[in-house]
Amino acid sequence: MDTTAVILGGGYAGVMAANRLAGQGHPVMLVTPDERFTQRIRLHEYTAGTRADPRVDYATLLNPKVQLLAGRAEAIRPVTRTVRLVSGVRLDYGYLVYAVGSGEGRVPPGAVAPDRFSGAVEARTRLSRLAPGERIAVVGGGLTAVEVAAETAGAYPENPLTLYTAGNLVPHFSAGARAGLLRGLRSAGVRVQTGTVNPDRLPEAGVVLWCAGFGVPQLAARSGLPVDAAGRLALDATLRVPGQDRIYGAGDAAVITDPGYGYLPMTCASAMPMGAEAAGNILRSAAGTPPARHNSGFLGQCVSLGRRDGAVQFLTADYTARSFHLHGRSAAVLKEVLCRMTLRWIRGEAKKSGAYTWPAGPRMTPEPSPQVLWS
Ligand SMILES: Cc1cc2nc3c(=O)[nH]c(=O)nc-3n(C[C@H](O)[C@H](O)[C@H](O)COP(=O)(O)OP(=O)(O)OC[C@H]3O[C@@H](n4cnc5c(N)ncnc54)[C@H](O)[C@@H]3O)c2cc1C
Repeated sequence: MDTTAVILGGGYAGVMAANRLAGQGHPVMLVTPDERFTQRIRLHEYTAGTRADPRVDYATLLNPKVQLLAGRAEAIRPVTRTVRLVSGVRLDYGYLVYAVGSGEGRVPPGAVAPDRFSGAVEARTRLSRLAPGERIAVVGGGLTAVEVAAETAGAYPENPLTLYTAGNLVPHFSAGARAGLLRGLRSAGVRVQTGTVNPDRLPEAGVVLWCAGFGVPQLAARSGLPVDAAGRLALDATLRVPGQDRIYGAGDAAVITDPGYGYLPMTCASAMPMGAEAAGNILRSAAGTPPARHNSGFLGQCVSLGRRDGAVQFLTADYTARSFHLHGRSAAVLKEVLCRMTLRWIRGEAKKSGAYTWPAGPRMTPEPSPQVLWS
């Protein structure tokens, strides 16, 4: 029987899963349309022009035993254990890891979304063509919008930038952390305006950067697999699709629907542990041992406000704001260190399966908590 694990998606979750499996000698094929690994957590820097190409060669990140296949999955057929690619190629799988991410949110005509590489390329080009004095609008109230706004305002001081947010900025931050964030935005040159932006009537600006939420590919829904209202693949606590013992999920495109996991946000800090844990459970399944319940949590969340300022909100394991928060240069340095660490963790796992570890999650209660997003 073919036990090859086919991993759909070469982002943080997929790459981590591939490395964990390959290092244990399990056959792995990673399928992704991307030529190179995109550091999505750096896309605001690329958009603003403060960083050159944020992509990294897969060869420098993957265990050499991982077979990399360029392609985009179009349909999953659990009955025959096959995946059809857009190219028409059909792949058989022994196990499947669904890790297709969240770079597909709808973008109103006239706006551009820097939360995906193609959008960041377009945004960077449009920004570079602005004449002095032309306005920039950023729409969104989450961390992507905040980072994009601060980075862009710093890089384009001659272009007035307004951040439009429907409600409180970054609602899961404490009031103190949010006040510090607002101070940082102000000193970066960002004007914050509260009110909902109608996608059919965008603010008057030379460039409108749309950062109003991540959207996931509808591949799982199209394939008849169980999904939530947003189209994320529904998983049990062992990261497996209920009733489908060979299909696992990880990262932004998947959601654990068992009670108690609602705290897990769409972040790279959730995607990497999920990728590693899904791989661990595939190894357990192949060995005939019981799967582990997913267990990951948080210590804090770092936000950059340009290259020299930032904020850190310390968190409980279940992503609840603590009273302690940090601002200024030290927060910016911490954020930069963490961005570098993500690549080191992936490379560490490529060298030694099991090397990557993460903070433990909260003690489980049967009560579901509200879902929170990075975006
Ligand atoms: C500007 C910005 C800053 C951020 N900063 C942070 C941060 O500081 N900390 C944090 O924790 N999170 C941060 N995030 C969020 C983080 O980037 C995402 O949560 C993370 O990328 C999710 O990882 P993933 O592996 O699930 O998906 P992704 O990284 O989106 O990767 C998905 C992969 O799947 C591929 N794919 C898509 N469709 C298919 C298909 N049909 N077939 C095959 N492959 C497919 C994609 O091409 C891609 O390779 C930030 C996001 C943005 C935009």
